[in-house]
Amino acid sequence: MLNFHIITLFPETIEAYLQASILGRAQKEKKIKISYYNPRDYAETVGKQMAGKLDYKRTDARPYGGGPGMVMLAEPILKAVKKALSKVKGKKSSVKIFIFSPSGKLFDNNFADKLAHIKGGQHIVLICGRYEGLDARVKKIFKAQDLSVGPYVLTGGEVPAMIIVDAITRRLPGVLGKDESIEERRVASSEVYTRPEVLVFNKKKYRVPKVLLSGHHAEIEKWKKGRGKAGDKSRG
Ligand code: SAM
Repeated sequence: MLNFHIITLFPETIEAYLQASILGRAQKEKKIKISYYNPRDYAETVGKQMAGKLDYKRTDARPYGGGPGMVMLAEPILKAVKKALSKVKGKKSSVKIFIFSPSGKLFDNNFADKLAHIKGGQHIVLICGRYEGLDARVKKIFKAQDLSVGPYVLTGGEVPAMIIVDAITRRLPGVLGKDESIEERRVASSEVYTRPEVLVFNKKKYRVPKVLLSGHHAEIEKWKKGRGKAGDKSRG
């Protein structure tokens, strides 16, 4: 089983997506396990009123050297990762720790494949940053790797975490059924149609391409190839 350990201040933003459909089924069938660790649960209580609460737990602070925004404190994250690592059992287990960062190694299908096919009890720890990111000492302590999901800046690492869990899980043997099999290993088009055969919208008719109704499999495959195979652009 592949174990994902997600370190995030906002687990609720991730859970709903990962519980639905194929990914939810993968968890029920014990192909993957997803555990959440909130750094706030490992943070110290601030002794004064903050954010309307007397027992507010601080997880960030101003950056040394100045600059805008807040930086996530190292200690709550270190404790959360330590908790995750305490669940790793067995000598052959492999543990990979990633910190999400827009300037990290770009995640793609090839990397997803590698992570999906490591043998033994595998554990992937995903640390989601917020604000200006996290104290750089976390990376040094755990010899973690920075990982990016694209050349743009998001508000937090939660969307990247969903992307990584999704892309890796669908590549695990037995996760996708025959009809849903991995795009890169079948002829898949990014242009698809379903009922009705003739769609009427604003008094205009939109028809399904004739070749798809022809029953001529060779011609259909040829048409699909011409329409661009889904997933091709992200292949290395
Ligand atoms: N100046 C910060 C930096 O360069 O890391 C920007 C921080 S961003 C507003 C907040 C967090 O979102 C980051 O710490 C990271 O965890 C996550 N994030 C934003 N864009 C990302 C991307 N393209 N790939 C992976 N993580 C990203």
